[in-house]
Amino acid sequence: MSNSILLAPGPVALHPEVQKALSLPMIHHRTPEFDQILSSVLKNLKNIFQTEEPCFLLSATGSGGMEALLINVLNPGDQVLALITGKFGERWADMADAFGARVIRLSSPWGEAISVDQVAQTLKAHPQIKIVLCQACETSTAVKNPIQEIAELIKKTDAIFLVDGITALGAYDLPMDRWGIDGLVGGSQKAFMLPTGMSFISFSKKAWKKIESSKSLKYYFDIKKEFSANEKGETYFSSNVSLIRALKVVLNLIELNGGLDSLFKTIGRRQRYTLAMAQIIGLSLYSRSPSESVTALLLPPNMDGVKFREQLEVKYGVTVMGGQDQLKGKIIRLGHMGYITDEDLHRMTLGLAQNLKDFTNLEIENLENKSRQWLSEN
Ligand SMILES: *Cc1c(COP(=O)(O)O)cnc(C)c1O
Repeated sequence: MSNSILLAPGPVALHPEVQKALSLPMIHHRTPEFDQILSSVLKNLKNIFQTEEPCFLLSATGSGGMEALLINVLNPGDQVLALITGKFGERWADMADAFGARVIRLSSPWGEAISVDQVAQTLKAHPQIKIVLCQACETSTAVKNPIQEIAELIKKTDAIFLVDGITALGAYDLPMDRWGIDGLVGGSQKAFMLPTGMSFISFSKKAWKKIESSKSLKYYFDIKKEFSANEKGETYFSSNVSLIRALKVVLNLIELNGGLDSLFKTIGRRQRYTLAMAQIIGLSLYSRSPSESVTALLLPPNMDGVKFREQLEVKYGVTVMGGQDQLKGKIIRLGHMGYITDEDLHRMTLGLAQNLKDFTNLEIENLENKSRQWLSEN
């Protein structure tokens, strides 16, 4: 067993009850036992999405869910506005290119959120825009985007708003119906606290109208076929029995622990703790629009950040992520989703400080007490 604690922004550490569910003997997906699990999960997923619309299970990682959202509403040649705050925004724009959309890219400087004013101007300048794409949380930069404000703008147009909530849906408030999000995707190994391999999607009524006339090529991700299968109590293809069974455990655990709001509070508290400890240690925040689900911290300049991350894992047993592309070696990203105890948080802080001391000779006084005190008072 690995004795390193997993604090990456996905994959995340699993709850012991989820691990137990994953080790159960296999059952067939055409059995009354599984039928009951599937119908319960499809119904309860709506609570996480905060929607009245049907939710779907896809046996594909988050990127598959992003593709499914896009190609079910797309017509080749459609103008698509891609709002880009980092790697995952770039991926969605590239995907739209691959399916023959005419993509307009609106990027923010890395570390900053999308500007609502710029979105408004772009929508005005291009009234033909049919689809807008945005990450709720852009995991590569730990930036949280103003989804509610952007949705307000798009509501007044004929365009539909697709949101990648892979590190947001289930981590902080992202009410699909109330905010007017037209397509939303969550990912299993991120906020859904499961192993990698599934994504979860839902469409608004406005999006369903586009689905009816969408001519983009699709087969595996044809949501109309999935819908018909779900109506009959089945999935279109073989059901992902293990992960769906584990998802039922996650959904039950959320309810048992006080519901969605309580989960958001738990994750928000981890973020606040991380920010408080980072300040004491002297590491500053990278993102100008911090997300509750993941924190990016700037490493001191002239330090080998790749080596820092590696040593944190190997020597101190704390697994976090580094930066990608232009941020490689410059930041570390700490995830706040999944099964994380206070003891894990405390170990993270001490590991970070000791590792920093190895690299910079800087020693933080009284950190152990400060960490314990924060955790007991908050
Ligand atoms: C992880 C992630 C993805 C990609 O998910 P995969 O499961 O790796 O396909 C997409 N968007 C965001 C915001 C993510 O964090």
